[in-house]
Amino acid sequence: MQNTEEIWRLVDAKKSDFEALSDRVWHMPELAYTETRSCVEHTAALREQGFRVTERVADIPTAVMGEAGEGGPVIAILGEYDALPGLSQEAGVAEQRPLPGPGFGHGCGHNLLGSAALLAATAVKDWLAANKLPGRVRYYGCPAEEGGAAKGFMVRDGAFRDVDIAISWHPAAFAAVQEALSLANTRIDFSFAGRASHAAAAPHLGRSALDAVELMNVGVNYMREHMPSDARIHYAYLDAGGVAPNVVQPTAKVRYLIRARDLIELRALIGRVKKIAEGAALMTETKVESKVVSGVSNLLGNRPMEQAMQANLDRLGPPPFDDADRAKAAEFQATLSDEDIAAAWRKMGLAVRKGVSLCDVVVPLDLKGAPMVGSTDVGDVSWVVPTVQARGATYAIGTPGHSWQLTAQGMLPAAHKGMVHVAKVMAGTAVDCLRDPALVAAAKADLAARTADSPYEPVLSPDVQPPFGMSTAA
Ligand SMILES: [Zn+2]
Repeated sequence: MQNTEEIWRLVDAKKSDFEALSDRVWHMPELAYTETRSCVEHTAALREQGFRVTERVADIPTAVMGEAGEGGPVIAILGEYDALPGLSQEAGVAEQRPLPGPGFGHGCGHNLLGSAALLAATAVKDWLAANKLPGRVRYYGCPAEEGGAAKGFMVRDGAFRDVDIAISWHPAAFAAVQEALSLANTRIDFSFAGRASHAAAAPHLGRSALDAVELMNVGVNYMREHMPSDARIHYAYLDAGGVAPNVVQPTAKVRYLIRARDLIELRALIGRVKKIAEGAALMTETKVESKVVSGVSNLLGNRPMEQAMQANLDRLGPPPFDDADRAKAAEFQATLSDEDIAAAWRKMGLAVRKGVSLCDVVVPLDLKGAPMVGSTDVGDVSWVVPTVQARGATYAIGTPGHSWQLTAQGMLPAAHKGMVHVAKVMAGTAVDCLRDPALVAAAKADLAARTADSPYEPVLSPDVQPPFGMSTAA
C-alpha cells in the first residue's frame, strides 16, 4: 500500500539523501540560536535540490528559507534542527552512555524534524515540476524551537506574510494528526534594585533585592490557588545578589515562565504577576523592572487541514516497521517504567496494549487523550497562516520527551522509516492544497472564524529582540 501515489514515490526516490542529512545533524548537536553547522547543512541541501535560497530569515543567522515553483498558492513546510543540553548519548544503545564533549544531544528528535520537512518540500517541488502546475513550496529552517521562540520573531518580521498554508510535524510514538493543544507562554525577567549595607553593623540602611524576589515568589505561589487550572508558572533565580551573607543584597533577578491556555488568559496572568512584583518592591522599598525575553502563542487548530492530513494518513497506513525495529524498540522500553508506557497510550486516547513497542496503527482524528501541556513556537505561525501538524512515529512507545532514550533512537532504522513516512503525510497534504483551491479557501475561512473575536496580538512586543545569547550565557 505504501507507494500507490506519485507523491509518495517522489519522497522515496530521495529518502536516502535526507536520512543521511538527519544523521549528520544528529552528530553535530547545537543549542538554540547556535545551530550554525546544522543550518549550513540544510542550506546546502536546499541548493543541491535547486531551491531559491534566502539566508538569515528575519535577520536570524541560523534561519533559512528555500522556495521552488512559480505562481499559485504558497505552501510552507516548517523544519527545526536545534538540540538540547544534558542529553548527549551514544546512538542505538539502550543504556545511558553520554558521549564525550559538551553534553548536547538531539533529545527532541529535531534532526529528524528538519530533514523530514525538507524531504517533503523536495518531493512537492519535484511533483510541481513533473505536473507543470502553478504553485510554490517553501522549506523554512527554523532555529531555536527550544525556548527561543524563533518562529514568533519570523512571524513578526513578516516571513510568513504571503504563505497560504503551513505544514509541520514532530517526532512522537504514534502516527497521528497533532491535536491543537499547546499553551501560550512568555519568559519575563524581573530585576530588583535595593541598597547594599553591612548586614550586621547597619542593617537598617540596607534594602534587600533578594528579599523582594523571595516575597514575589511567595506572592505568586499564593496566587496559584486562584488561577486557571491549565495555567503554569515556573521561575529560576538568575541573580541572588551575590555570595556574601553579610552584605544586604542590592540586586537580584528572577526569570518567570508563565503559561496559559490562550493569549487572553496569558495577558491577564502576566498583569497579576507584575502586580505581585510591584507589591514585593513596595514592601521592601526596592525598585523593580521587567523585561520580556521571549513568548509564544497557543496553537490554533484548523479543521479542514486536519481532515485533509488525516485522509493522507489513513490512505498511507502505519509506518512499515519490521520485527528487528520492534525488537530494538523493546530494548528501550525495558529502560522505562510501566507508567511511562501506559501514559503514552493514554495521551493519544488509546487503550494500553502491552508488548507493543512501536506504533502499528493510525490514530483516528478526535480521540480525546490527556492534553499536552507544553508550548511550541509553531503556535505563532498558526495565528497568521492555516497550520496543520503531524505526529510522526519515530521511537519506542513510552519514550519520554527530552530524554537520553530519545537521543539514542534518533538514527535507528525505525527513526528513518518514521521520518520518511511522515514526509509522505506532509507532502501528500501539500499536494492536496495545490490541487484543490477549495481546500485552501476552507482552511483560510476556518482561521478567520477562529480569530474573528480575538485577533492575533503577539506576546512579543516590537522592542523584544531574539535572545541570541540564551545558549551561551553563563
Ligand atoms: Zn521538539
